[in-house]
Amino acid sequence: MIDIEKARLDTPSCENVLHFNNAGSSLMPVPVFNALQRVLRDEYEVGGYEAARRAEDDLQAFYMEFAGLLNAEPDEIAFVENATRAWDMAFYGLHLKPGDRVITHASEYASNYLALLHQSRRLGFEIDIVASDQSGQIDVDALDNMIGANTKLIAITHVPTQGGLVNPAAEVGKIAQKHGVLYLLDACQSVGQINVDVAEIGCDILSGTGRKFLRGPRGTGFLYVRRGIIDQIDPPFIDLFSAKWTEANSFTLVDGAKRFENWESFVAGRVGLMEAVRYARNIGLANIEARVSALGQDLRDALLEVKGVSVHDLGLKKCGIVTFKKDGIDPALMGDTLRGDGINVSTSQMTSARLDLEPRDLKALTRASVHYFNTQDEITRFVEAVKKA
Ligand SMILES: *Cc1c(COP(=O)(O)O)cnc(C)c1O
Repeated sequence: MIDIEKARLDTPSCENVLHFNNAGSSLMPVPVFNALQRVLRDEYEVGGYEAARRAEDDLQAFYMEFAGLLNAEPDEIAFVENATRAWDMAFYGLHLKPGDRVITHASEYASNYLALLHQSRRLGFEIDIVASDQSGQIDVDALDNMIGANTKLIAITHVPTQGGLVNPAAEVGKIAQKHGVLYLLDACQSVGQINVDVAEIGCDILSGTGRKFLRGPRGTGFLYVRRGIIDQIDPPFIDLFSAKWTEANSFTLVDGAKRFENWESFVAGRVGLMEAVRYARNIGLANIEARVSALGQDLRDALLEVKGVSVHDLGLKKCGIVTFKKDGIDPALMGDTLRGDGINVSTSQMTSARLDLEPRDLKALTRASVHYFNTQDEITRFVEAVKKA
């Protein structure tokens, strides 16, 4: 069980604002903020390189904490400045060619889909969209049936940015393994709110960000690449960190996932994100998952009681992201109105989720996303504010 009182004491600003925007960027807990401040202060006082030297243990701990979080090995983890670039570092390094096929789903993250279009235009591979089942999640049988000899990659999103759906990532993993197809999972919204285990899911590559449900600083992200497939990806960029200049005209890539990193990076952010992972693991990801999904469902149920409100989350399994709209009020205006009441939410726009929202004729939705430090009282207050809006 989570000590909610302590979690809230560690998150002092949750007393000033009702934060239902954890899928956008959560509130950092005190130890994360302290770690950031400590490293920044060292940079200010003794110099950037010297500060990094002082932070050496924490910088190493980054890989251990992520390995523990995801059930991976430390050398399978890379720090990347955000989830999109992490995903890109793997995807743009794949050797796709004309005639190849890549499978994705309507819930895919917009920037990933743009990268698919970008590379498809350059390299000439085809993009296949796997159907959704009745519930709106990836249709696993359809996926099994559509994989052919030319299918080289399954690239899907675990939890989409624009709704509460949790895709059946482990079932997809079984199918990817059965057919020997590479499996790239965007776990940006799931890591930190769901107990994500790369071995159980069976993905080859996984990307995520620091600021969302992990509660780390902005400008941080990470990439997992399974040891056994690392040589199938040629990093799209290299530098003096990811490669060694062995002779005037030759180089070798460094071992492991560090070949996807940059030499220069946000050192304080790395340490802050390490602390965020440590903090989450202390609470326990299974505990977090249970509470977040229960609060999410309570919020959904309470919103459905409000006259004129419809809830739009798909899937058999749902998480802490809740999307809704109210008759007669534009979702963006709903967001502004709630902000005026000291409540933080986001708006999901169709233009950033075309494959998902356009066929459902949804122009926009208000997105409320809860975390474990949120409470039933906050849900009650939130629903009152939606009623009034
Ligand atoms: C936010 C988000 C991303 C992008 O993360 P960045 O760190 O902003 O690059 C990718 N995928 C999903 C599902 C997201 O919600």
